[in-house]
Amino acid sequence: MMLHDLIGQTRAVTMLERALGSGRLHHTLLFTGPSGVGKWSAAHGVAAALLCRETPREMAGRACGCCGDCRQVLGLAHPDVHYIMPIAGPASAYDPKERPATDPKKRPATDPKKRLATEKDTLIRLLADRRLNPFAHAEQEGTPSISVAWIREIQRVLALRSHGGGGRIVIVREAEAINPTAANAFLKTLEEPPEGSFLILTSAAPARLLPTVLSRAQRIPFGILDREEMSRFASVVGDRLENGGRSKEVEPLRRAFAGTSHDSLIEQSKGRPGELLERLSLGPPVYRDLAFRLLSDGIGRDVPGWIALIEKAGGTKKLNRGQCEGFFDALLPAFRDLLALQNGWLIVDGEMRAAIESAANRIPREAVPKMLASIQERRRLLQEEGTRNVNPSLLMAVTLADLARGAAGA
Ligand SMILES: [Zn+2]
Repeated sequence: MMLHDLIGQTRAVTMLERALGSGRLHHTLLFTGPSGVGKWSAAHGVAAALLCRETPREMAGRACGCCGDCRQVLGLAHPDVHYIMPIAGPASAYDPKERPATDPKKRPATDPKKRLATEKDTLIRLLADRRLNPFAHAEQEGTPSISVAWIREIQRVLALRSHGGGGRIVIVREAEAINPTAANAFLKTLEEPPEGSFLILTSAAPARLLPTVLSRAQRIPFGILDREEMSRFASVVGDRLENGGRSKEVEPLRRAFAGTSHDSLIEQSKGRPGELLERLSLGPPVYRDLAFRLLSDGIGRDVPGWIALIEKAGGTKKLNRGQCEGFFDALLPAFRDLLALQNGWLIVDGEMRAAIESAANRIPREAVPKMLASIQERRRLLQEEGTRNVNPSLLMAVTLADLARGAAGA
């Protein structure tokens, strides 16, 4: 996303565009604000503006958005954009003083080169996930942190000539995870990066950053979006997901994701587009796998069996309203992806491709919009006030029966 495409954050964007336009951008920036409001996107917008070589002179400081450099930056694949982000596992315990590993079996390999290699592999995987699905949520075991090894590695890279002969950008995600040893090793670079290099730190918890780090960066605050901005964001996403599909088939998708009947989703996201995307793309994690299993295996005749599975995933003995909502919230994106695959649009949840493909082969194409509409309708019913008497198990049973019928082409 280019800087001027960012929805909301007018203040931050104006500050950045002005600085970029005058060629006086501070070499170390700190983007602060709640998670999911656009700090990561803005960092890439700035990187594109700095690396784009196609911008007309009168638009100085703006990225063109379509040249090779811009595409690479926005695709998280530019050789002159480097990343530092918290990584869990061996590398976090790089320095035994930083993180004591008491269990000898869990103690990481002592060879620093090996550890750095492991850490690089993890970073490549995290970036690949994000490339495939910009809404990817990194799942890592343990407590991720930014180790001194990475800081040294980035410093080594910055000492070399840049790939394109121009500037270089280092994007530091969740900068509060820099451990003290790493932060101290980083200070000189923050203070005075090599010629043409820019550092962009992002943090949702700047209070946890060391004062020495804070004092070296120019702070750019990001805030939550207001309701109007969130609706605008939702409809942009709806349009993007639609991706050229025909309007009649797209209608259920539009209703679900373009914000018209999804006020509740906007409400729940509390002004954070990232949260909205996460809710759209994955649904609640406990139900995500189950929703895709339902897609790939089908329901068959075993509605009670499925209700038992939903209860088990939700951790209670009897299906309650919240679980019912949670499962619907996981079904919606799963069916959205099914609809997308059958119509040749973009799939959001790449990890579940196999499940979606299996469903796409089994379920008649014309049945899917109806199935999606049925889930939406029940979801709405659950939420409406004055329907406190609705029986969640019954509602779920009716919906599952609908889906089974739909899948059978009846
Ligand atoms: Zn460009």
